[in-house]
Amino acid sequence: MRIGLFFGTFNPIHVGHLIIANHMAQHPDIDQVWLVVTPHNPHKEKATLLADHLRLDMVRDAIYDSPQLKVSDIEFHLAKPNYTISTLTHLQEKYPNDEFSLLIGADNLRSFQKWYNWEQILAHHKLYVYPRITEADAELNLSDELSKHPNIELVNDVPILGISASFVRAQLAAGKDCSFLLTEPVLRYISERRLYQK
Ligand code: ATP
Repeated sequence: MRIGLFFGTFNPIHVGHLIIANHMAQHPDIDQVWLVVTPHNPHKEKATLLADHLRLDMVRDAIYDSPQLKVSDIEFHLAKPNYTISTLTHLQEKYPNDEFSLLIGADNLRSFQKWYNWEQILAHHKLYVYPRITEADAELNLSDELSKHPNIELVNDVPILGISASFVRAQLAAGKDCSFLLTEPVLRYISERRLYQK
């Protein structure tokens, strides 16, 4: 199976994430998209970051009826700080018959050559790059090596919304209605536990 990995803190998972994941799961060369929840990093204490299991539950609830979308907690079990290359290596060992690619935003592609072992990632995995809203008038300015690389595909028909998890958290903290920013199961999960309240 060909699996696209979509990494995020998903604090919380919102419709912007789900639209990208679902759109990429329809790509002719992708069979499933796995949403890989990034764990809390003890070296980067962040008060606004909800516990790992809560974020994982919300992702699971958000995708429960989408057969092509799966949630992964693989990074919860890897040594910290963790690098994408080690997640890929672990997944490849665990699922030797599957093919893993990365789904990343255009903003991340620009700094991709700073990633640990990026050459190794690119030699063995495809990168599907979705646009970011801030890229609308900005040039990508990729190096020749990236712009011509056969393992990098720019997917430009992804509908991108100007929503971020930080915006959603601020709305929730202000007691605003987030019905159209979050899916119903996620909204219910949050309100039952009174998460993201001030
Ligand atoms: P925060 O505001 O807390 O930084 P976020 O929603 O931007 O949250 P993550 O939960 O880590 O960030 O998102 C996972 C990935 O999805 C990130 O790599 C980010 O680039 C991308 N992403 C998030 N929101 C959008 C959006 N509205 N459009 C396109 N990409 C997005």
